[in-house]
Amino acid sequence: MGTLAEAIRQQAYTIYPIIQPADYPSLKTINFYLIQREGGLALIDAGVDSDSCMGRLEDTLKQAGADIRDLDAILLTHHHEDHAGLVPRLLEIKDIPVYAHRDAVPRLKMDRNFLEMRLEFFMRLYREMGCGEMGAERFARLEQTLRKAPQHALQAEINEIGEGDQIFGFEVIETPGHSPDSITFLDAAGRTAFTGDVLISGSSVNAIIDPTPNGSRLPSVSQQRRSLERLAGLGADILYTGHHEPIRIITGLVSDRISRMERKCEKLLKLIGSGISVPARITEAYYRDLYRTQFPLVMSEIIGHLDYLEEQGKVTKTMSDGVWHYQNA
Ligand SMILES: [Zn+2]
Repeated sequence: MGTLAEAIRQQAYTIYPIIQPADYPSLKTINFYLIQREGGLALIDAGVDSDSCMGRLEDTLKQAGADIRDLDAILLTHHHEDHAGLVPRLLEIKDIPVYAHRDAVPRLKMDRNFLEMRLEFFMRLYREMGCGEMGAERFARLEQTLRKAPQHALQAEINEIGEGDQIFGFEVIETPGHSPDSITFLDAAGRTAFTGDVLISGSSVNAIIDPTPNGSRLPSVSQQRRSLERLAGLGADILYTGHHEPIRIITGLVSDRISRMERKCEKLLKLIGSGISVPARITEAYYRDLYRTQFPLVMSEIIGHLDYLEEQGKVTKTMSDGVWHYQNA
């Protein structure tokens, strides 16, 4: 009896969602979560770096009868700036342990070798995908980021967590695709999960192209597909997400997202079948004006889906004059 009661008590925790309005075009809110357990207080994600977001966190802590100095841990679902934004401010107040996936570390710390490798990766990628001028412009931007890196680097020890680890009463599940370091935190009852940006209600999620630590391209779209299937297979009742409303009809939304992926693939096969073979031209034909205004994002989408089609044996590619050409298999 004692042990069961003890187990249940240990599982009990309170979730305080912190909902920050977002001024991104396709995202209405940025969400992060204060978790209160007996004897502990943790954050899952840390919002954006702004005074208003900091104010919201302080108000929420007050509701929980606590303040920043009572925080015991910061758990990050991934390294993006709308998830790790307040970490530097919080660490200025208290040395709180930060936990993130191994692949988040060079990105959060803006490791110079890593960023240089990443710069080279994109330079070659855009060249080989036929991006010409647009690629060169983007490359200049990335170079600037590299120069400013020291100012934005997170100066903190990061505790690396990965698949199967237990942290603050949650199991870590690796769910890459949106980013290589995306992880999900599943509670001990298996009912509630905190999933970052793997699946968002009312908004599509981009699987963003990125290199591995040794410079090869991650299969972001097939990773994203597997991660979506993994979320559907958890059997959880609710997913607390990095943006928008929590998700309760999980398998329904997952199959909707997967069929969107498949529709995008069908459309790409048609474009390739019509004779457009260079990825930059395919992207232009698919996204029109967005090729210019949202270049890195839409390019990443098309390259990711081409990789996915190639993996399935539906397209092949050949190089001519240093540029890849895709054909239907
Ligand atoms: Zn993200």
